[in-house]
Amino acid sequence: MSQILVLGGGVAGLSSAIALAQKGHEVTILESRPYPGGRASSYSAPHSEPPETIDNCQHILLKCCVNLIDFYDRLGVRDQIRFHDEFYFVEPGGHISLFRKGALPPPFHFTESFAGLEFLNLGEKLSIGRAILALRRQRKSRRDLDSITMLDWLREQRQKPRAIERFWRQILVSAINEELDRMSAAHGFQVFYLGFLAAADTYEMGIPQVPLSHLYSEEIWSRVPNATLRLRTPVRRVQVEDGKVVSVVTDSGTFTADHYISALPFHVMPSVIPDLPLDLSLFEYSPITGIHLWFDRPVTILPHATLLDRTIHWMYNKGQGRYLLLVASASRSLTDKSRQEVVDLAVEELGEFMPAVRQAKVVRSHVAKEQRATFSAKPGLEAARPGVATPFANLSLAGDWTRTGWPSTMEGAVRSGYLAAEHATTALGQPARILFPDIA
Ligand SMILES: Cc1cc2nc3c(=O)[nH]c(=O)nc-3n(C[C@H](O)[C@H](O)[C@H](O)COP(=O)(O)OP(=O)(O)OC[C@H]3O[C@@H](n4cnc5c(N)ncnc54)[C@H](O)[C@@H]3O)c2cc1C
Repeated sequence: MSQILVLGGGVAGLSSAIALAQKGHEVTILESRPYPGGRASSYSAPHSEPPETIDNCQHILLKCCVNLIDFYDRLGVRDQIRFHDEFYFVEPGGHISLFRKGALPPPFHFTESFAGLEFLNLGEKLSIGRAILALRRQRKSRRDLDSITMLDWLREQRQKPRAIERFWRQILVSAINEELDRMSAAHGFQVFYLGFLAAADTYEMGIPQVPLSHLYSEEIWSRVPNATLRLRTPVRRVQVEDGKVVSVVTDSGTFTADHYISALPFHVMPSVIPDLPLDLSLFEYSPITGIHLWFDRPVTILPHATLLDRTIHWMYNKGQGRYLLLVASASRSLTDKSRQEVVDLAVEELGEFMPAVRQAKVVRSHVAKEQRATFSAKPGLEAARPGVATPFANLSLAGDWTRTGWPSTMEGAVRSGYLAAEHATTALGQPARILFPDIA
């Protein structure tokens, strides 16, 4: 069996590794941090007594993330993901509109629920309905979707400002982690179509019931045959000679293999693999801020909610209504605020949606500002995303930023990992099909 080195133990690296190990290859993952999972990982909450493991930020998936679900299957942790089929849109003041599928077949399965949304008026709903039909029609036929922003397209469809703000922005900015005026319409179309139109259940939101790090813990990993996870092993340099990779230099020694997969983030590529010609000039990051709040009493009974018209986009109930995780996507407006200012803003805003917050006391808080959360899915980037093949026959490229057709998500990361695993098996003369195609 062939020996394969995977550089980077994020979701992309781990998914390529497990797929190859299950095919019988001998796989070693080199990860610089003391834990696997990369951007989708957990750590001990500061000042928690007894120690509590929290996620760096809430990570959710939709049922259309077929490769990510397959990855969880391979790890034996799929039952740790709970799918929710009801969304709660909450207005300042606390009014809640419920969104869930009804009796009609797709793509009309949200008609009843949509008609009942109280935060939009009839004119706004009709204009959104027209735009959804146009999105279905134009999805395959328009060639310019990656050269315009989603906002350009919504304006072209004469969407009313409140329809943009309260419907399109609310859904898409969280899904793609970018503002509508910076987001390629191609990504807006792809996520909206797959999540809300392609099938009746693809919108269902999966929330891990355990901290992310438990999904791919060292203990789970130790049970994967043929795979070795080496933590605290930063790769310093990939050595290339005569058009192929010959070794990988780390702080713990030099490693060699029959094939190599790079699953590193784009910003480290020039220093770790300087021989790889990559034009990364269009790549930039978009931030996400996670605000963890522990109250002295329950402040909500909702499992989760999307919050309209404010800085905070989502609330996740992480424990009996007392521990809430709030998420602000594309959170550039919070970058320069101090952690205390972020907490104060979050508590102030939350009080507008959940009056019980005003009587409660915050006993503990933690703010995780991830400046390098996701790549910015801006127009023109698709053509610049590199594919899995490199000029070196024994090196495959993975990572959510490579050309997966998906924005920066765990599904995109797994897709890249599976594509790299397929590419590796072909290079090794034993081609295998691993990737699941999109459901539509
Ligand atoms: C706050 C936040 C919230 C998010 N929310 C969601 C969500 O709700 N749903 C969703 O689908 N996605 C979400 N994402 C995006 C998702 O986390 C990423 O798209 C995905 O995890 C990327 O995986 P990756 O393996 O491509 O990259 P990474 O996770 O960045 O993995 C790269 C790995 O390489 C390691 N590494 C770097 N340099 C070296 C080196 N020199 N040597 C060895 N190892 C190295 C890193 O430590 C890391 O483990 C979120 C991201 C963030 C930050």
